[in-house]
Amino acid sequence: MTGTGNIVARLPFPVAARKELADTQLRANLRRATHTIRDKRLRVVGEVPDWEELRVAGAAIKDDVLARLPELLERFEAAATAAGATVHWARDAAEACTVVTDLVRRSGATEVVKVKSMATQEIGLNEALEAAGIEAVETDLAELIVQLAGDTPSHILVPAIHYNRTQIRDIFDRNGLLSDRARTDDPPALAEAARRHLRAKFLSAKVGISGANFAVADSGTLVVVESEGNGRMCLTLPETLISVVGIEKIVPTFRDLEVFLQLLPRSSTGERMNPYTSLWTGVTPGDGPQTVHIVLVDNGRTDTLADEVGRQALRCIRCSACLNVCPVYERVGGHAYGSVYPGPIGAILSPQMSGGGANRTLPYASTLCGACFDACPVRINIPEVLVHLRQIGKHPPAERAAMRALSWTMRDRRRYAAALRLARRSAAPVRWLAGDRIRHLPWPLSAWTRFRDAPLPAPESFRDWWTRAHG
Ligand code: SF4
Repeated sequence: MTGTGNIVARLPFPVAARKELADTQLRANLRRATHTIRDKRLRVVGEVPDWEELRVAGAAIKDDVLARLPELLERFEAAATAAGATVHWARDAAEACTVVTDLVRRSGATEVVKVKSMATQEIGLNEALEAAGIEAVETDLAELIVQLAGDTPSHILVPAIHYNRTQIRDIFDRNGLLSDRARTDDPPALAEAARRHLRAKFLSAKVGISGANFAVADSGTLVVVESEGNGRMCLTLPETLISVVGIEKIVPTFRDLEVFLQLLPRSSTGERMNPYTSLWTGVTPGDGPQTVHIVLVDNGRTDTLADEVGRQALRCIRCSACLNVCPVYERVGGHAYGSVYPGPIGAILSPQMSGGGANRTLPYASTLCGACFDACPVRINIPEVLVHLRQIGKHPPAERAAMRALSWTMRDRRRYAAALRLARRSAAPVRWLAGDRIRHLPWPLSAWTRFRDAPLPAPESFRDWWTRAHG
């Protein structure tokens, strides 16, 4: 079933990117933040002598999971149920939102606390809860900033990466978090203001909603990895815990988890070990939430699984390393991608999960430089999938005809040489008028020059030059 919810962009990437490119403050904020994280990541990854072996192991475990996903999901369901959790299945975003909203309603709560969960953003849960009269309070600091600003996340790991500390101070001030203290943009003071705001919410909430980084099939255990400890409060204080989990989050055993707990922190925040790793298995009488629900969400994942080249996108552990090294992301930021999954991984995951629409342009949002593949801890060959998606996508008839003609010409060396000679001869008068580049071509070729120059063929080919110079 095709995925729905916040994975579907409203605007095509070229339109949305144009607006973001005009924002110089955004570019400065992104450049500073992504370069800081990527330098830190490079340092700590360089400390691990068997990093490549770890990457290969991570990729192999995930490929094994994808090859036997139904079996592992059933094993997870059986183990989690035996441990006292209730497992629900959701085919798309709407179904997942209905399940969660009904569960919250049944608990009688009108406010829930949430630990950062991309799956809940993907299904548009906050909007669904609001429509049902339930307030959802984000408790991850960056998520809270975005929520207070009335904005949407722009990065997988640092959703508020597009703000600097002065902008965050103003957001807190507008929402009354700084009312009893001096207006300061000192990070510890801002964190303290957020902590005081959230503490009251943690202590009063009856329902917590979480995602999960991993789900262990053998034991029915869910795992959340985080830096602040706010997630742990969400997972342990409320009476009811509802976890929304994408079906690809499964790992077979605890032994497999070991690999990802080494790969994830170094790739995401550049830390050797993340500060908080919370694991829970069903219900423990007298300790933690006494009602535990797990909603397993498909939302286009089985469609993605069906594509032999594209399915590797489901290996993703959402570390965001690919975003931090991407020259396109660094300039346009996460909002231009339209979907909840931005950057290189978003460019391959969103179109596959949503089946096209405005997301059809996303595979072109890349220079194919390959930096994302080098950075990915589970070796997702993002450039390969981008090229594959471009090939299977729809192309205008004029482009198809041009490519067919080009392919016919290039299949024969003499034909190719003759075409080049003709192109050089025709370009000579244009070069005399316009120099080496054409900046505006008439329709339909204007589709090319609207976004880039068209270079003219060199006055002399390399072969001709070689023959002339070396005989
Ligand atoms: S594609 Fe790879 S680098 Fe990018 S977020 Fe996923 S796991 Fe991390």
